[in-house]
Amino acid sequence: MEELAELIQNGQAKRILVLCGAGISTGAGIPDFRSPGTGLYDNLSKYNLPYPEAIFDVDYYRKKPDAFVSLAKELWPGIVFKPTPTHYFLKILADKGLLLRIYTQNIDGLEFLAGIPDDKLVECHGHFRTSACIDCHKASDTERVKETIVQEMETPICIYCRGYVKPDVVFFGENLPDRFHSLLKKDIPKADILLVMGTSLQVAPVSLIPDMVRCNRVLFNRDKVMTIRPGDMFLQGDCDSNVEKLASLLGWALQTEELNDNEEREEGRGVERNQEEMKNIDKEDDGNEGEGGKETEVANLEKIHIETNKQEETNENQKQEDASKG
Ligand SMILES: [Zn+2]
Repeated sequence: MEELAELIQNGQAKRILVLCGAGISTGAGIPDFRSPGTGLYDNLSKYNLPYPEAIFDVDYYRKKPDAFVSLAKELWPGIVFKPTPTHYFLKILADKGLLLRIYTQNIDGLEFLAGIPDDKLVECHGHFRTSACIDCHKASDTERVKETIVQEMETPICIYCRGYVKPDVVFFGENLPDRFHSLLKKDIPKADILLVMGTSLQVAPVSLIPDMVRCNRVLFNRDKVMTIRPGDMFLQGDCDSNVEKLASLLGWALQTEELNDNEEREEGRGVERNQEEMKNIDKEDDGNEGEGGKETEVANLEKIHIETNKQEETNENQKQEDASKG
């Protein structure tokens, strides 16, 4: 811990890459998905899901949307759950210009609510701030979608084709956001250090990031979920407690803000930048690609990308087939 504080203080860790998961949000009261008894999957037993992951399956949603609608109502960001000390620590990293990027697997939107700028944030599994139809894929009015799910507890319907609409949370079989691939390729060679926080590293391709980097890695987690290489650090235990200790070593105050402030902030920032705007923001940090020698990482990423493209092609072919049938 002291060693990490030292690296941050003496400027050796000034481009910090962060990979985080559910463990950074348990302090906010968001139940882990898989814990028996208290996990979200268990609480959804009343919906008789054929298998727990069906809740994030598009075909299942098309047939029986109630389970996901119920989950979305519970999780909708900015209503019940507030950012944790870990989220505010990440915000300070951003404020101090030490944050290269956060790759989060969480869909709770707490990074955004903590005020982390969206150009520093990649929500690998999507978020609730935009939404689209699962059939015609046209974007929907997300304020209306939120109202339908949270207040009316109904499934939102597409105004164009009457299909079901869902927030842009990435379901199984759906592609990760384009920004994930394009930014990760740039960020991997630039990182001075990787913080892996509160994740069981079970879901690919995000789980592959620790193997892609050449820099040292710090694991904040209850369990040792990755091989600790020479120079790596393992800070075992609850994320928030360790982050609080680290912040105190650095002399940083982890301010917790009231939810009302966050809600105002979210409104002030607008619902979401559109994709074109995000692309422009992402382009701004082009250049400084780092010196070669990163072929392996790039190759890994390209593999993921190729697989993604294949899937897109398949989808495209399917659409064409469907169109010709119709
Ligand atoms: Zn539609």
